[in-house]
Amino acid sequence: MEDVVIIGAGAAGLAVYYQLKQSGVKSRILDEHYQVASSWRVRHPQLRLNTHRWYSHQPGMRIPAKYGRWVSRDDYIQYLEDYVTRFEIPIEFNTRVFKVDRKENSWKIETSQGNFISKHVVISCGANRIPKMPHIPGLETFDGIVKHAADFGEASVYDGKSVLIIGGGNSAFDLGNHLSKRPVRELSISIRTTPGISAKEVFGFPMHLLAAWMRDLPIRIQDALFHSTQNSLYGNLKKFNFGDPPKNVFTKHAQDGITVSVDDGFIRNIKKGKVRVIDEIIKIDQKKAITAKAVEVYPDVILCATGYDPGLFSLIGHLGMLDPFGIPATTGSQTIANYPGLWFIGLRGYIWGNMYEQIRQSAKLAKAIASDLNR
Ligand SMILES: Cc1cc2nc3c(=O)[nH]c(=O)nc-3n(C[C@H](O)[C@H](O)[C@H](O)COP(=O)(O)OP(=O)(O)OC[C@H]3O[C@@H](n4cnc5c(N)ncnc54)[C@H](O)[C@@H]3O)c2cc1C
Repeated sequence: MEDVVIIGAGAAGLAVYYQLKQSGVKSRILDEHYQVASSWRVRHPQLRLNTHRWYSHQPGMRIPAKYGRWVSRDDYIQYLEDYVTRFEIPIEFNTRVFKVDRKENSWKIETSQGNFISKHVVISCGANRIPKMPHIPGLETFDGIVKHAADFGEASVYDGKSVLIIGGGNSAFDLGNHLSKRPVRELSISIRTTPGISAKEVFGFPMHLLAAWMRDLPIRIQDALFHSTQNSLYGNLKKFNFGDPPKNVFTKHAQDGITVSVDDGFIRNIKKGKVRVIDEIIKIDQKKAITAKAVEVYPDVILCATGYDPGLFSLIGHLGMLDPFGIPATTGSQTIANYPGLWFIGLRGYIWGNMYEQIRQSAKLAKAIASDLNR
């Protein structure tokens, strides 16, 4: 019988392992891949963190200053490798977990390397496991290339092409930030639900730090501060075809776990007319994409920045604790009443930065597990 098994050795799982070790609790950490930072290795090469180096580190080890303010994908991978080496984290690679089930007062974990029984299980498999494609009538008839944002690759391959991005969330803005600075022939973005938009930095000041300071304010004050900051930075974006957001930004964050879209030059290029903002695409007809307001675009490439599924149904769907989006009711340092000993981390987004939040959550989670084991 194990005390704790952690499923997934991404940033969140590694943070929990470290914090448990600090509390004197031994755990096993499993990962289906053969090396650390697997989710970062498949992301596009021009990716940099949206959160400042100071607010993106793991517990117990800062990110070296030589990596700069906005750490690149490759440097972040190196940092996670160094973290594992420094704290001698014995990740059991090539161990895929298929199912987690109740076994009397503990949990049975079925893996590709055999089964384990554990008092506690921490699920840290990541929120971005399975790319979700949109269901648009006629998408299968499209003459050009259709990709999910997960397969964006090298930005220069889109030079000279007409590109349509579908989506208004953070990964859509990430693609927009890069492509609007490239010599693409035409760039359009189809936004169904207007997001909250935050600048990555203003006069060198990282804007997510502001959100971190606002973290404990009442939601209505957070909403008001966000609204006035966005307005003073961007003015009224309605004339550039942005709609009204359905909910205030921090309300949406609290209720739906949705974070903001980070602008790093994209809005400036929209205002310059380099990017066309259009409404929801409702139909595709071979060469043509048509919106609900009957706007037509003729892209060579469609990039679907339409989100991810965490893929938890196969693992724990039978326990009946997931909402229709595949997310459990609680994450972090709370365990769900009827499922004692089952914990989740890293599944939702935080405006102030997921990695920043993970330091606190992993510490609380480890403390809760340690106190249960010491009872
Ligand atoms: C493009 C992008 C940019 C981001 N930028 C930032 C940023 O700038 N700042 C920030 O704070 N956050 C950022 N995030 C969020 C951040 O990546 C995550 O919150 C954080 O890295 C935590 O990751 P994780 O450990 O939960 O998941 P992952 O890094 O996805 O790790 C999950 C691990 O679980 C393993 N696994 C999954 N399923 C199984 C299974 N069944 N059996 C065994 N192993 C399994 C996987 O192999 C993987 O190693 C970004 C996310 C994306 C997608």
